[in-house]
Order: sequence, then structure tokens, then C-alpha cells
Amino acid sequence: MSDQEKTSVNIKEIKIPVPIINPETRAFWDATAKGQLLIKKCSDCGKVHYYPRNICPYCMSDNTAWLQCSGKGKIYSFSIMRKAKVPYCIAYVTLEEGVTMMTNIIKTNFDEIAIDMEVMLDFVDNGEGSALPYFTKA
Ligand SMILES: [Zn+2]
Repeated sequence: MSDQEKTSVNIKEIKIPVPIINPETRAFWDATAKGQLLIKKCSDCGKVHYYPRNICPYCMSDNTAWLQCSGKGKIYSFSIMRKAKVPYCIAYVTLEEGVTMMTNIIKTNFDEIAIDMEVMLDFVDNGEGSALPYFTKA
């Protein structure tokens, strides 16, 4: 196994996608540029959800508010693409706030990545006024 296959993706080698921003997601992407991860919390039923939507997926209320996350989470599940042109790890991370999001694990040795591993938020700037919320070993 080459050194590249043992280590999580070198983020400089891949093209970071630029999100399509609409009025519903503008605040989310603007916050990423400031290093903040936002989710939505329903003011009626009290549940949190991700991805952010104006309508609560649990009770259909439109009374939702932004909630800034701590950036701490644990890996729920993951998969390592070792044979990709640039190897990478895709994962579901459950945030401290209770939601689970699909993301990438970066700057972490592939051999260390495990279910329930504690991770922390690590934004990668896409150079277009927003950043992607990825995670690294805590
Ligand atoms: Zn609700």
C-alpha cells in the first residue's frame, strides 16, 4: 500500500465543489464562510434537522430557527475509496446536536478511522465564498 492510500485525502488535490445557493440555503452557506455550521431547530416540536429546510420534516411547521453547531461529532458509518484517483473517505457523522450528516473525513490516517471515532469540524474553503463542512479526527 502506498503512503497515499494510507492517508486521508490530500484536499489540495481535489476540486472542491461549489454549492448551488438558493434563498433557503443562503444563511447556511454564508455561515460556512465564517467557519460556522448551522442546522435547523423546530420551534414547535423542538427537534433538530439536517439538511436545513424551512419546513420541519417532523411536524411540518414553518416555525424553524437556525442553530449553530459545536462542530463535535462521532462517525456513524464510513467508507474509504482507496482506489480512487485521489483516495478519500466518505462518512456519516452524528453531530453532538443529534443530527447525522454525510461528509468527508480529511487529514486523518485511513487506518485510524472507525465507527464511533470522535471527530471535529474542519471547513474546506471552495474559493467561491463558501466552504464545505468536512471532519477530521478530534
Ligand atoms: Zn417540528
